[in-house]
Amino acid sequence: ELEPKALYVLLNGNQVLVRSDLELAYLDYATVQSIKEESRTTFLGMIHQHSTPVFGVDLLGENASVPATDDGSGALYSFVDTRTTAPLFSALDNEIALHATAYAQWQRRSGFCTLCGAPTTLVEAGTSRRCTSCNTPSWPRQDPSMIAVIGSRCGNKVLLARSPRHPPKMHTVLAGFVEAGETFEAAVARETMEETGVCIDEGSVTYVASQPWPFPQS
Ligand SMILES: [Zn+2]
Repeated sequence: ELEPKALYVLLNGNQVLVRSDLELAYLDYATVQSIKEESRTTFLGMIHQHSTPVFGVDLLGENASVPATDDGSGALYSFVDTRTTAPLFSALDNEIALHATAYAQWQRRSGFCTLCGAPTTLVEAGTSRRCTSCNTPSWPRQDPSMIAVIGSRCGNKVLLARSPRHPPKMHTVLAGFVEAGETFEAAVARETMEETGVCIDEGSVTYVASQPWPFPQS
């Protein structure tokens, strides 16, 4: 399952392994093999001009023992919260960390077939599942969500809200999941109304950019 020339990024719960300079830690085959821990390996893609495969390794045990240091550079390794730290990575490291997290989150929650209830097994290097009874394939579920800046007509104010689950004085732009059968524009209008009581014109909603968001129920 592990490949000698490949690089591996480690996940542990909601955390990802980084070097002390806040770069995503890429471990080699020998280092990953030395970690005596139940784990699940998923193919993420090729980097370095398509010469090097990268895998995500999800440590499934309670007591993951990873090497304390990268012997080559002396940088220390540590696990950090993926959601809050990944935005500080380079664009490539951010993409790989979120890609690995998306697969790990899905794999942890999709052990049984949604049609017949039988156990599923991971196939295609961890990127899809197949039911052991009815053979139905399944892939990671996507939860479309939106985050929007609601601006005033004069253009110099934005609408912020404070969630009860956030610390005092922390205000954010509005965000939420798109409901089944709903357009993104309608989701922006609905969430804005639900969270602030402000009615906006759905037709004024415009698309800016997209990002992965592999954090279920958040
Ligand atoms: Zn089934």
